[in-house]
Amino acid sequence: MKKLINEIERIEFKTGENFSYDLEKEFDLISSDLNQEEQTFLKEDFDQFLLKGKFLVLNTFAGGILFLKEPEQIEKIKIASLHEHKKIKASVVFVSGSRRPENIKSKPEAGKTESIDWDLRLIFPNFHRYTNTIKHALLIVIGKIVKRICEYGRTNFAYLKIENDFNIELILDDQIKSKLRVKIENSREVAEPIGDKLQCPCCDYFTLEKRGEYDICHVCFWEDDGVDIDNIDIHSGPNHLTLRQGRQNFLKFGACDSSMVKNVLGESDKKKFKLEKRTIE
Ligand SMILES: [Zn+2]
Repeated sequence: MKKLINEIERIEFKTGENFSYDLEKEFDLISSDLNQEEQTFLKEDFDQFLLKGKFLVLNTFAGGILFLKEPEQIEKIKIASLHEHKKIKASVVFVSGSRRPENIKSKPEAGKTESIDWDLRLIFPNFHRYTNTIKHALLIVIGKIVKRICEYGRTNFAYLKIENDFNIELILDDQIKSKLRVKIENSREVAEPIGDKLQCPCCDYFTLEKRGEYDICHVCFWEDDGVDIDNIDIHSGPNHLTLRQGRQNFLKFGACDSSMVKNVLGESDKKKFKLEKRTIE
């Protein structure tokens, strides 16, 4: 039984672009420890997870209880089974005093800890039927996915600007059973190039998902109000300057405004975006 936990802890969880999980290896490993009836439950659980559960987990963390438009530090994430193992409490604990107003302004209830209760019927409906070892193994499956969301999301999602490495604690009956380390530094190096984006009017990198929707470019921190270089001298309200000034500032400081230098991506992160320089007279 200990072997199962060790093996499942060792597996590197992979996801595709759309967070389509390949969980066959995990299923086979856990399944090998089960009798026939339990194997049927497990099959049902993994099917349910792929149908609904993965979206619940993804939406909880990518922009849900973990909404970081501005960089912030996390103390830990807790995934705790509760209420006779029919619910799981997912919580993010932020480092004391680190909360940034930009991240909580639309969330009046936001505090040091943000959490949500998952109904396990939507994730692993048979969770309460298993032994503690299997429950532990399934918590690791969830934990690894949360780890993957945080590490991948740090570089690829606009709302997961996590600043630091931290632990995910997996808790069963009030006991911490495993800790998974989220490594933000590593994720910067392994993240894949990002394609299919639109060109930022200020820095000319292809960073924007859409145009004119007030998205912030992470290369230069220009807020995209839809203006482009054909209207370069119009005052841009959200940016408090003209696009011409923004472009000049980017060449000079590496950000659309000198006060934004601290917010922009570093050199190695920038390289992941396509760049087509445009020159303006
Ligand atoms: Zn830009």
